[in-house]
Amino acid sequence: MPIDPDTEKFIKIIALKNSVEHGGKAQSDVVIAKFVGLKPELRSQIKSLISEIKTIVQQINTLSLADQKSLLEELAPGKVAAKKQIAEHQQQLPPLEGAVQSKVVTRFPPEPNGYPHIGHAKAAIIDEEYARMYGGKLILRFDDTNPLNEKLEYYDAIAEGLKWLGVKPDIIKNTSDDIELLHNYGRKLIELGGAYVCTCSQDIIHDLRARGIACECRRDPATALDRVGKLFGGSYKQNEAIVRFKGDMADQNTAMRDPALFRIIESDHPKLANRVRVWPTYDFAAPIEDSIDGVTHALRTKEYELRNALYFAILDRLSLRKPYLIEFSRLEFEGIPVSKRKIKPLIENGTIRRWDDPRLPTLTALKRRGFVPEAIRKFVLSLGLTLAETKPPFESLEALNRKIIDPISLRLFFVKNPVEMYVRGGPEMEVVLKNHPTDANLGMRTVKVGDRFYISEDDAAGLKVGNEIRLIELYNVKVTSIDWKNDARLTITAETSGNEIRQSTPKIQWIAKNDIIDYKVMIPKELYMSEEEYNTHSLEISQGFAESFVSHLDPGALVQFVRFGFCRIDGNQVAIMTHR
Ligand code: ATP
Ligand code: MG
Repeated sequence: MPIDPDTEKFIKIIALKNSVEHGGKAQSDVVIAKFVGLKPELRSQIKSLISEIKTIVQQINTLSLADQKSLLEELAPGKVAAKKQIAEHQQQLPPLEGAVQSKVVTRFPPEPNGYPHIGHAKAAIIDEEYARMYGGKLILRFDDTNPLNEKLEYYDAIAEGLKWLGVKPDIIKNTSDDIELLHNYGRKLIELGGAYVCTCSQDIIHDLRARGIACECRRDPATALDRVGKLFGGSYKQNEAIVRFKGDMADQNTAMRDPALFRIIESDHPKLANRVRVWPTYDFAAPIEDSIDGVTHALRTKEYELRNALYFAILDRLSLRKPYLIEFSRLEFEGIPVSKRKIKPLIENGTIRRWDDPRLPTLTALKRRGFVPEAIRKFVLSLGLTLAETKPPFESLEALNRKIIDPISLRLFFVKNPVEMYVRGGPEMEVVLKNHPTDANLGMRTVKVGDRFYISEDDAAGLKVGNEIRLIELYNVKVTSIDWKNDARLTITAETSGNEIRQSTPKIQWIAKNDIIDYKVMIPKELYMSEEEYNTHSLEISQGFAESFVSHLDPGALVQFVRFGFCRIDGNQVAIMTHR
């Protein structure tokens, strides 16, 4: 029975959706069940339609996932894809409390006091995913209110890092852009009796806060009003006065014991030079900025939990709109410092020279090491929005990355600690080697071989006279002697022993003697053995030979050195190991 075009299209859409949702393969029985469910009026005809449905499913399954997606978009524009996208996100992140479609505004507020790391990636990606999930907006706000710490270099590094991650903010701003407004809210809060200028010494403030006792400055409203003009007018010097929130000095939550809202910092600011001296603290700037920027959902890491009360109290007293505050756990790894506070000292004291050192979890280092942004996003989403303080294994990030780069990494040969091998009777010839076992698009290379090779010491060490090994993609050889040369270098002599590929024969990578370049691979290891103990062997170097083809690759190329590991070409004769 010929099927009518509308029904055919309907079946195609169901099949495509099913396929796209399952990585490119639709299942006939699922499609049949869906069809019957959606078109009960055609139930009576289903017998005659089954073979049609099966044929359609078969045809669709021959298409690539990308082609399936575009065909689906063609047949059912927008609606289906969008719905599917939301479903996919929701699988990962729970819905946001109080979220209204197209009205959600999130923000990622890094302080430009260092390079962004994978912890920032977690925050930024979650912020972005939520903005996209609800068709809302993402704000990137540089929280630059401490001129002692901020540098232009860091603003750039953060923007660069996010760009690489594929996080695209809809709005980019600096908290310092709003400095006047923040001053005005500060004054207003003092005028309303919600804050005061305190001229006590830091020691006294500290002591009284610990004991839960208010100081003189808090008591007299007239003093507060007199001092506010002096403060913003510039009569006080650094450390002579701060603005404090009038909280509750006896509150169990010490964050409410009159915390600092403004302090005087006499230092040039990267955006405002010396024009500003009175700077808001994070505690003051964050709620005001979130509120006036229209942020509906402010997500932040759990360590701020105690300060949530303060956040809302400030907005309450100023009668400003309150966003939802949502917490998630900080991302940390065993042995790897995921915090500027921990990384910066390592750089400053020279333990680590650069922010892109491959041992670091900074985005620039992860990029340099061969991680790809898609893997980081997948990893972050796989963690979800938990509050649990568990450290995920770094290996799970590696596994996600491996899956993505495996199909695109060239398979090449590197031999660590090379040992010479003479193959008696080894013919002079040109061999053509595939750059990838399954993807012919990655091309081939031709290598001239003769009777002299290098293999790695690790492989050589296990050999005994009489052993047979297979030189990958070449032929089998049988070891005839193992000698130490005068200079104590190991050499191996072997003879060719046919071309039959046997499961039991060890297959090892090799380099033809006339095709070598000196090569080095840096292998990053965990920076810390324990919480405090720095791992002095955290950067291992493997020295050896690579085939000359490697010298034609540009920095940034992703390769898999066969039986060694995935690496990213870093420079002329050096690569960095991404992971095994
Ligand atoms: P650091 O310890 O690296 O200095 P920070 O929290 O001071 O961290 P910010 O630049 O203030 O760094 O952070 C910007 C945003 O990124 C904040 O919302 C913060 O919660 C989030 N963030 C920072 N580090 C992590 C992390 N390790 N895991 C998850 N989110 C993080
Ligand atoms: Mg911070």
